[in-house]
Amino acid sequence: MASTAPQMDFDLVVVGGGSGGLAGAFRAAAHGARVALLEPREFGGTCVNLGCVPKKAMWLAADLATRMALAADLGFQLPPPPLDWKALVAHRQQYIAGIHASYRRRLDEAGVVAIPQRGRLLDAHTVETGDGMRLRAGRILIATGGRPLRPDIPGAELGGVSDDFFELCAAPARVGIIGGGYIAVELAGVLQALGSRVEVFVRGPRLLSGMDAEVVAQLQEDMRWHGVHLHLDAPVHALEAEGKRVRVLHKGGDSARSEAFDTVLFATGRRPNTGGLGLEQVGVALDEDGHVVVDGWENTTVENIHAIGDVTGKLALTPVAIAAARRLMDRVFGGQGDARLDYDNVATVVFSHPPLGTVGLSEEAARERHGEAVRTYTAGFRPMLHALAGSPQRSLFKLVCVGEDERVVGIHLLGEGADEILQGFAVALKLGVTHRQLLDTVAIHPTSAEEVVLMS
Ligand code: FAD
Repeated sequence: MASTAPQMDFDLVVVGGGSGGLAGAFRAAAHGARVALLEPREFGGTCVNLGCVPKKAMWLAADLATRMALAADLGFQLPPPPLDWKALVAHRQQYIAGIHASYRRRLDEAGVVAIPQRGRLLDAHTVETGDGMRLRAGRILIATGGRPLRPDIPGAELGGVSDDFFELCAAPARVGIIGGGYIAVELAGVLQALGSRVEVFVRGPRLLSGMDAEVVAQLQEDMRWHGVHLHLDAPVHALEAEGKRVRVLHKGGDSARSEAFDTVLFATGRRPNTGGLGLEQVGVALDEDGHVVVDGWENTTVENIHAIGDVTGKLALTPVAIAAARRLMDRVFGGQGDARLDYDNVATVVFSHPPLGTVGLSEEAARERHGEAVRTYTAGFRPMLHALAGSPQRSLFKLVCVGEDERVVGIHLLGEGADEILQGFAVALKLGVTHRQLLDTVAIHPTSAEEVVLMS
């Protein structure tokens, strides 16, 4: 019997209005496609609401706090400035509200039909909205992102996740953070700078596995200098309540039971939002962690269904989701048959204190791939402001080069300004810059950036 549910026809239905879904909807509409976008929450997804944007707002505040301390060391007579955390959050959320408004306006202008509902696939061409409407589509884009993972250990409910960090209205006096990835590092740095005493529990022997070991070792030193207590090789197996506080039970050397924390946060990875989407029923394959399996063209195992962004388990970064979505739409609606994202040499920044920017291969990865042909150059220095103020925070810049011509295959910058410096050098690396060409570039003095063209 034919369904009596209301039905609409589109060229493309996008499920998820985060970084990737919005970018895909805008680009498809620009190519003339009729597009519907399903998003039950605020537009912008993780990045705008619970990720990059609010995180960077907090990092900027933390950076100001660090600089005010340096200013005092330099001779400025500042009273210790108390932070009105609620005012900071109000500024942050006002900024985010501006992004939401801008998305709504741009969706209207682009003629995208935005539907504030969850989506679920009924078949390869039909998406059902939460309120029962059926959307028929030539193509479907899955862009449902992911969510923080709370590990399955006793007492896990006593800990929060990164989403909960953004609910804080004041700096908790003592914070325990569980995890060694970039989110753990970033939350630790922000909270420590804004007044908490932070301890981080890392399962393995170091933070940021996969990033260059030498540079990460310097970051660990800098973090310790800022007051963060790192417990390495300390896998956590339970949380335990003590009144309103929480203890972390771990297998680390110094003490198996931590002091009591006011707040404990897990930063132990993320899981894709693929449950309840009807994907398996229509034949879309998922991997063992639940990510949508896609090929190098963002095709799933069903011909007209595509997926991009965090839900695919590829590089979980906003600009990656956006770039993948745009190229996909250029290919399927814009007649650009070769358009697809090259996932190599994507630059990224950890907003630690100081920030760590990295593009290309770590020394370890380069040696695995190129063996003896690898040569590295490093510059370790105190940035001028820190040297003037007598602060021991150090920067470490590193080039990883390969072959006779010393082509640069990795650039790793830890230090003040690394977040802004890296982008231009990432272009150079992508274009195949050699060590000699960097040395042939006259430095800008006095800056930290000049160290990149002076390493020899
Ligand atoms: P998302 O942005 O997560 O969007 C998915 C959307 O789908 C959500 O809005 C969700 O509500 C919606 N959705 C889910 N299920 C359904 C359904 N059934 N129907 C309809 N809609 C649905 N990246 C960076 O590049 N730089 C950073 O500095 C950075 N910092 C981060 C900090 C934190 C704390 C976190 C958690 C992430 C950070 N990221 C950062 C990663 C970045 O946020 C993600 O890579 C990016 O948001 C992925 O975009 P996406 O479109 O794949 O998914």
